Amino acid sequence: MDLTVGVLALQGDVREHRAVLASLGADVVPVRRPAELERVAGLVIPGGESSVMDKLVRGFGLQQALRERIAAGMPVYGTCAGLIMLADAVIDAIEGQESLGGLDIAVRRNAFGGQLESFETELDVPRLGAPPVHAVFIRAPVVERVGPRAEVLAALPDGRVVAVEQGPLLGTSFHPEMNGETRFHERFLDRVRTAVR
Ligand code: GLN
Repeated sequence: MDLTVGVLALQGDVREHRAVLASLGADVVPVRRPAELERVAGLVIPGGESSVMDKLVRGFGLQQALRERIAAGMPVYGTCAGLIMLADAVIDAIEGQESLGGLDIAVRRNAFGGQLESFETELDVPRLGAPPVHAVFIRAPVVERVGPRAEVLAALPDGRVVAVEQGPLLGTSFHPEMNGETRFHERFLDRVRTAVR
């Protein structure tokens, strides 16, 4: 079975995602061009800076191809800036910033101000079971609106939504790839195996 998956490698923490996916047995390739996207059965969009990533996606001629693959059901996992790229609507985007869309959600960029800009916490994710996820937030977005097609996977104790899923699309505000948490990537690879079958 072809388990070649890609990491969008224009900007952001590409290396960390590649390492987690490789440790789980996937063949991982960087994706920068439409021809590379064609060869992968699933894609991770890393954290970084969504406004820059958007510009690069368009500059590398990838926007249309990515939107088509997403619409065709390719599994995608986005972390932080990657979640922003997957959101149908972005609040506090910079002028002209576009997302790829796919997830029926609105996210607010840089939703944690001041001292909370970066923080870590234990997060209960019922779909992943025990133990809780150690979640690292870095200038993270929050999901402010969850449409009927998306499902909430995790929320902070105050109710703010930080992980969602919609069929083959998965998104987290935080960075599991940074601290050895592999369950989201395993879930993504399960979706890829199902899609390939
Ligand atoms: N603040 C960044 C953005 O708006 C996301 C930060 C991250 O990916 N760690 O894209």
